[in-house]
Amino acid sequence: MKKISIIGAGLVGSLLALYLNKRGYKVTLHERRPDMRKVKIPAGRSINLALSDRGWRGLQGVAIDDTIRQIGIPMTHRTMHSVDGKITTQPYGKDGQGIYAVSRGILNCTLLDLAEKGGVEIHFNQRCTGLMLTSGEMQFEHSENHQKSSHHADLIFGADGAFAASRLQLQLSTDQFNYSQRYLQHGYKELMFVAKADGSHQLEKNALHIWPRGGYMLIALPNLDGTFTVTLFFPLKGNPSFESLHNKQEVKAFFQKVFPDAVPLLHDLEEDFFHNPTGSLVTIKCAPWSFDNKLVLIGDAAHAIVPFYGQGMNCGFEDCSVLNDLLNQFADDWEKVIPEYERMRKPAADAIGELAVDNFIEMRDLVGKPEFLLRKKIEGWFSEKHPDKWIPLYTMVTFSHLPYHEAQARGKKQDAIMNEIMKMSDIENIWNSSMVENRIIDLLK
Ligand SMILES: Cc1cc2nc3c(=O)[nH]c(=O)nc-3n(C[C@H](O)[C@H](O)[C@H](O)COP(=O)(O)OP(=O)(O)OC[C@H]3O[C@@H](n4cnc5c(N)ncnc54)[C@H](O)[C@@H]3O)c2cc1C
Repeated sequence: MKKISIIGAGLVGSLLALYLNKRGYKVTLHERRPDMRKVKIPAGRSINLALSDRGWRGLQGVAIDDTIRQIGIPMTHRTMHSVDGKITTQPYGKDGQGIYAVSRGILNCTLLDLAEKGGVEIHFNQRCTGLMLTSGEMQFEHSENHQKSSHHADLIFGADGAFAASRLQLQLSTDQFNYSQRYLQHGYKELMFVAKADGSHQLEKNALHIWPRGGYMLIALPNLDGTFTVTLFFPLKGNPSFESLHNKQEVKAFFQKVFPDAVPLLHDLEEDFFHNPTGSLVTIKCAPWSFDNKLVLIGDAAHAIVPFYGQGMNCGFEDCSVLNDLLNQFADDWEKVIPEYERMRKPAADAIGELAVDNFIEMRDLVGKPEFLLRKKIEGWFSEKHPDKWIPLYTMVTFSHLPYHEAQARGKKQDAIMNEIMKMSDIENIWNSSMVENRIIDLLK
């Protein structure tokens, strides 16, 4: 039986282990951290994530979607909060289509439980320090006692996240390895809205809340216990920035000025602001993703993206389901599966990486503007009338399985058409007229 090792027992590594185990491979998972089911997750580390259709399909493939749905909260729309307290909403899709806020910790623990129950061997506290790709040998160091060990596999998957040791090894072992790593000038910090005394949410729970402020924004996703995980995306330098807020008084004054309606909802703002870590936001692209059918990258290790489309995990889960489909198609012939996996997933991952950066501008700046809301209203109206001709980009990315690069290409064409439509005179009043409808149909030809 082929022995497969996966480095990294995060979300993607654990799901991949379930898939491969189900196919009958002998799978071992090697994780740098201690067993997260037995230790407390540190505060300020992205405790919930938006799960959408591509992610659901990944979970369905190993029949755990119903279990996870029970721990998720559907969010059917965005709710935007302006400085003067005005609230606007925008549905995510039609007929109550929604994305789900899911706890990263519970999801990861569930995947680990299921993998272990199915017979996957999981080694915690094992930091991969090196790989011998030709022999399939992996070297590890115990994170606590620093003891060294090694393990052998016929095939290794690098699922060790954005700063993957496996990818570094691939880079060292491959001629002409292409690699790019681009940081945004923004970082992020997690804060929290507390629950009401009765355990319910202080804001509407079936929405993703956004406080768009041009150069920066605050967002909030609901948790099951009545709290919200709040994330501030903010410049690292300049004014205002993480660097320009020096003390608790400045933080409080700044929040009161720009996010006044959020301040009373926050758990100890000043304490959390200085105690919780500031995270960085990076897009990583690389190629190739594999070496000689011995090592294959998957998830963030292959394609780290910024979180503004809520697609990093979803994309990694889609990697798993696509890989599984290819194993079915080629009857587990890895020599055919690996190149095909890479051929299909690389352009898709590049596209969602670019779309995620673009969506930052949309979320922090445009979503609060009347012109943008009108634009979305026209798109929604036209797409409802002509679903065969127009699917909004957000819907293609979030609620479809169209490869991301095809969604990106169609999105660009639709964007150019909408630029023309928004130039039509009196568009605010004629937006749902037959004149606008016919003009869009003409431009689509
Ligand atoms: C603020 C923020 C919000 C996000 N929101 C969303 C969202 O709403 N929706 C969404 O789909 N995605 C979101 N993402 C992205 C998502 O978190 C990632 O895409 C996802 O976690 C990738 O999973 P992974 O398993 O590939 O990598 P990771 O989750 O990073 O897991 C990698 C694992 O490998 C282990 N590891 C690392 N190095 C080694 C080593 N040398 N040896 C052994 N083990 C190692 C790590 O400890 C970790 O457990 C968000 C990301 C951030 C930062």
